[in-house]
Amino acid sequence: MSAELPETMRAVVVHGPEDYQLEQLPVPTPGPGQMLIRVEAVGVCASDLKCYHGAAKFWGDENRPAWAQTGITPGHEFVGTIVQADAEAVNHHGVEVGDRVACEQIVPCWKCRYCLRGEYWMCAPHDMFGFRNYNGAMAEYLVVPKEALAHKVSKDLPPAHAAFSEPLSCSLHAVERANISFNDVVVIAGCGPIGLGMVAGAKAKNPLKVIALDMSDDKLALAAKCGADLTINIAKQDAVQIVKDLTEGYGADVYIEGTGHPSAVSQGLNLLRKLGTYVEYSVFGSDVTVDWSIISDDKELDVLGAHLGPHCWPAAIRMIESGVLPMDEICTNQFGLDDFQVALDMVADTNGASVKVSILP
Ligand SMILES: [Zn+2]
Ligand SMILES: [Zn+2]
Repeated sequence: MSAELPETMRAVVVHGPEDYQLEQLPVPTPGPGQMLIRVEAVGVCASDLKCYHGAAKFWGDENRPAWAQTGITPGHEFVGTIVQADAEAVNHHGVEVGDRVACEQIVPCWKCRYCLRGEYWMCAPHDMFGFRNYNGAMAEYLVVPKEALAHKVSKDLPPAHAAFSEPLSCSLHAVERANISFNDVVVIAGCGPIGLGMVAGAKAKNPLKVIALDMSDDKLALAAKCGADLTINIAKQDAVQIVKDLTEGYGADVYIEGTGHPSAVSQGLNLLRKLGTYVEYSVFGSDVTVDWSIISDDKELDVLGAHLGPHCWPAAIRMIESGVLPMDEICTNQFGLDDFQVALDMVADTNGASVKVSILP
């Protein structure tokens, strides 16, 4: 089953760091078991920017090979409408042509040790839309392989809001890693798109208090709308002291780091109580140095990592559909494909007022 499709489409192509071009390419033809979707929105992620600027994590260095590839279309936070799919594809994904879907960014191999154990988000080859072996969504059309995980999303949502299911699922996974209890004081560092989702996720776990930290009063105001009980501007206030004062001097039970700034690591170690839980979500641009004896001898902390949003997509989509989040204020900027460079530059401007920047191809 197929709709009338054009022969060519506009797509951004990665030629190398800081060399992304908008090109005219043939509309791809899905193979057996694959689906073609008309992309409605793709969010621009901090990781897209790190890749754009040539970070070693993506392009390799003397210690590791490159993971990202040239010749690929970027964009991994997307939502689109299925315009072509055979019976094998619709049965496999449990969808129909015409449905709106968001796909998980990772395309698992389903063969490696992790995939076979259900730990697909740590898939060893680690293929991902927009970075490696699968074209992403900064294009009018995109092929969804059978290996991908597609989730239906309500057509009532504005496209940019629907595409926010990717970052929100990542936030919710970080929150789940924290194993929050009802009596916990939970501190979230950073109120960008990921931190705001962590605030909303932590609030949904109904702990004693959710405290949000940032350096922007505007972003803190948004964190309050996402459910923060207390906000602290770390540029003006002493977060460690405030949290200690609030907790009879003990410190916070849980700290979830979503800033990517090295100073947020020691801040977290310092404001946690003994036996507290630290969750690290960020990707850092450089090595971070801290006193590890805080983790061992001083506080016996649980330090946990978090990557992607496994098993959290249905919850993230439900949360967006429910209307509890101030989505109009989170999705601050939308651009057409012609302005993809403006969108990238806006995300690169970390002092700017934007929260979630999206491209509507
Ligand atoms: Zn992302
Ligand atoms: Zn795998």
